[in-house]
Amino acid sequence: MLHASGSFKHGIIAAATLLAAVISFPSKPSALAERLDYAPPNAPARPQLAVLLVVDQMRADYVEKFRGQWAGGLKRLVQEGAWFREAAYPYAATETCVGHATISTGTFPAIHGMVMNEWWDRDSQKEVACTQDPKAKNIGYADATVKGGNSAANMLIPAFSDELKFQSGSGTRIVTFSLKARAAITLAGRLGDAVTWYDPSTGAWVTSSAYPFAPFVENYVKAHPVSLDYGKTWTPLLPGSSYLYNPTAFKAVPPEGFGSAFPHTLHGKPNSTAADSLFYGQWEVSPYADTYLAKMADDAVDRLDLGKRGGTDFLGISFSSVDYVGHAFGPRSWEIQDILARLDRDLGELFAHLDKKVGRGNYIVVLTADHGVAPIPEDMLNAGMDAGWTMTEELKSSISKTLETLDYPKTALASVVGSNIYFAPGIYERLKSDPKAIGAVTDAIKKVRGVDRVYQAEQLDRDTVMQNAVQKEEANSFFKTRSGDLLVVFKPYWPSDDSAPGEPRSEGTTHGTLYYYDRHVPVLFMGFGIQPGEYFDAITPADIAPTLASLCGVTLASPDGHPLTALLVRSEPTHSATKSITAKTTKSPDR
Ligand SMILES: [Zn+2]
Repeated sequence: MLHASGSFKHGIIAAATLLAAVISFPSKPSALAERLDYAPPNAPARPQLAVLLVVDQMRADYVEKFRGQWAGGLKRLVQEGAWFREAAYPYAATETCVGHATISTGTFPAIHGMVMNEWWDRDSQKEVACTQDPKAKNIGYADATVKGGNSAANMLIPAFSDELKFQSGSGTRIVTFSLKARAAITLAGRLGDAVTWYDPSTGAWVTSSAYPFAPFVENYVKAHPVSLDYGKTWTPLLPGSSYLYNPTAFKAVPPEGFGSAFPHTLHGKPNSTAADSLFYGQWEVSPYADTYLAKMADDAVDRLDLGKRGGTDFLGISFSSVDYVGHAFGPRSWEIQDILARLDRDLGELFAHLDKKVGRGNYIVVLTADHGVAPIPEDMLNAGMDAGWTMTEELKSSISKTLETLDYPKTALASVVGSNIYFAPGIYERLKSDPKAIGAVTDAIKKVRGVDRVYQAEQLDRDTVMQNAVQKEEANSFFKTRSGDLLVVFKPYWPSDDSAPGEPRSEGTTHGTLYYYDRHVPVLFMGFGIQPGEYFDAITPADIAPTLASLCGVTLASPDGHPLTALLVRSEPTHSATKSITAKTTKSPDR
């Protein structure tokens, strides 16, 4: 029908003609009867439940360092699962919203559009959060009053769970939990049935008008208010000799009310006797929040009969506390090691619950992280290595001063968000037509401590520009209307500090760069259809959604991610005659 040289258009016309023929001449009764004579093959085996776990800020090396101390769910993932040791995000914007959207959509931020946790909105001339949506209204469970509105409206590609529900027709339920709206929402996409996050100022659990109100969540949070953890003290779980580092993390910035070493008591403000706003914030930086999320997931499995109603259900949990603990105490801390040992226990209980309710082997689990983290810069410096903080305030003032000397208005610089520089409307166009001016601005930026190089927006178009390795990673998380006019690349171990002038830094360390410590994350699959083992292929977390899609029989757009064929086991054919096929041993494509 199609000649080798035949055009795509001709192919479409031919296909349309054929389709029209099929539609205009319905099968005769005899043909229909003949069709029904065929015993339809049994529905192919699918996982009954897909569980996607994200541990916010979990570096890949934590698995290698700490797995000897694990006895629960993390250990089981390593022992029974497929462990991808060299998974990394191939882009620079290693932040929570970005990573979760990449995991859930199987695309990079240049495609899904969630380029940062917050970006500068050129229309409103305001900073907006990635899930902020003026059309949505947040709703607090248990009669809590909450502000704002969040949805997945800014995510430009459907989540895997959206496609699962959309393509399965019916019978798929989508449930996600996290402390962070940007995690719960990006994992769920637009078709979530229960999408729940936490408000640290009030201790409330929240959803929005973009999703159904879930009575089971309402009942759960009424029966289990977070305030029940008031007054608890977080102490080390393991014997002291098990911890790798100093009990006091060097230059940690613990949350208000916590010291820089164990124990940490969640008592809120000094004079408080009951849960207050400070307690609700401290709770986020403790293992009790992980336990809560895992128990809430258990309850969802029970109340909604997840994995027991014919289709494939989806449960997504993003554990946020490792991120908060990592920002405060850094990767070389007792606190990070301890919270992972405790998460291991929580996950062990979650998997035991799933074994009982859904059945071992009937569900698939994936665990990954949205990004890694840099060491505390002062800790590096103290050990004699080059490190420091790149001060946003310094970037702002040096750009503004340069613009002023070039007779640009005082308001010419609109905003600096992390490594993204935004100019006021019309200013960047003016700068571009004035090579001396743009040169002066980029020179000024390059003189700021911690800056390695600067790119102009035009240099990061991944479709048209020849790119070096660094540019490519910047381009993978560049989205023209949302990213800056200029993109700054910091030096390794020089993360961004955006604290206001004169204010103390609010965190010990952070992430958000193209360096491997920020990009390298664990990826572990376990359960249905998985060939266990250690894999060293260089994969990206964008491969997770296409792999789940392959197992669940749905098709994604996924221009960036690919199914990890090496780990997939072919199931027994459900019709007779054919012999059983053993595990595939093909290698996944090198990327
Ligand atoms: Zn973070």
